[in-house]
Amino acid sequence: MLKHIRFTAQAGKKFNLAAVLILLLSFTGAAADRSIQVEKINGLQYVSLHRLINTLGIESSFDPVFQKGRLYHKSHYLVYKTGYASIIIDNRLINESYPVIRMNGGIYIPKGTALLIAGTFFNSMIITEKSGRIIFSDAPAPEIKKEKITLHDKKGKIAFIILDPGHGGKDPGAIGKGGLKEKTINLQVAKKIERILKKDLTGLKIKLTRNNDRFIELAERAEIANRELRKDVNGMFVSIHVNASISSSISGFETYFLSQNPTNEEARKTATLENNVIVLENNGKGKNRYNDLEYMEALMLTTQIQKESSILADLIQNSLDRKITEFKSRGVHKADFYVLRGALMPAVLVEIGFITHKKEASYLKKDPYQEKIAEGISNGILKFIDEYNKMIE
Ligand SMILES: [Zn+2]
Repeated sequence: MLKHIRFTAQAGKKFNLAAVLILLLSFTGAAADRSIQVEKINGLQYVSLHRLINTLGIESSFDPVFQKGRLYHKSHYLVYKTGYASIIIDNRLINESYPVIRMNGGIYIPKGTALLIAGTFFNSMIITEKSGRIIFSDAPAPEIKKEKITLHDKKGKIAFIILDPGHGGKDPGAIGKGGLKEKTINLQVAKKIERILKKDLTGLKIKLTRNNDRFIELAERAEIANRELRKDVNGMFVSIHVNASISSSISGFETYFLSQNPTNEEARKTATLENNVIVLENNGKGKNRYNDLEYMEALMLTTQIQKESSILADLIQNSLDRKITEFKSRGVHKADFYVLRGALMPAVLVEIGFITHKKEASYLKKDPYQEKIAEGISNGILKFIDEYNKMIE
């Protein structure tokens, strides 16, 4: 037994020495070229991020708490998150076919992402692939066939819808007379939308951020949506809320999309009301999470997504207006909602009515009115899918 162990240990040593020799030979053989191994993990092609960074001389940082990392080179940057197939590179959102992963303490990125980084950060570099390695050359080498790296900007079709019933669990949201809770109405309406959409849309994934009365952090809601993003797969995020006002005479429904510049003071107040939940998250300790720089990238990104979000907001608001005759449309507004900030896709927040308005509250808690609201929102979603898919064809 002991002999056997000794033998394998020696064999291992010999193997390592051979590997070092091969490495040395390959370095002297092609001085200008640098290369990294492409590894197969679960049948998918990955590259060690650590090796890529060292090979190309890229600066990087990693936040182990949020599993987010950044790469920099000159004016270029990239943001990734483990478990996500979406990355942000130079202010553009790119969805890969499979996610960045963490394995044995190292981070592995899809081969396509590695090619994209090299092609974007070093635009004069020639990138080729040979015998399972990616080769980076600074000068043209005649015997190596050039491979053009194309940035896959083509957007995917809408393949999933995330319905987000606001609040839940220890966070009741707005409270009306008689203890009527916003969180309950939000969930009931979201479930109705889900049922309607499932009937009309086959082959599309429809998912609720919560199916019952439980607490979810705001950032987690967007993350549930972002995890579904893939190359050629896009989605949308629709958050359902009930509004509240200090004035009991205010009623009606409105739709918001994300902006740092709110439409007006009223929109800012609504956003503040909905964002208040943050103090409940980690007893307030999670507050920095929304102020930190990580979100700047996501915010920059929204200029790209903001237009789509405003179209989605218009379509939902108009469809609601056509369905609802009892209360008036308060229009589409821009506001800074935390729940929409992190979503890397068209995202809106619908305030379906005022819990502080006596008549509207009595409607909001009843099935037939909830059904009308759900139909209105569903119609808007269906119209958006039609328009969006036509747009990208
Ligand atoms: Zn709310």
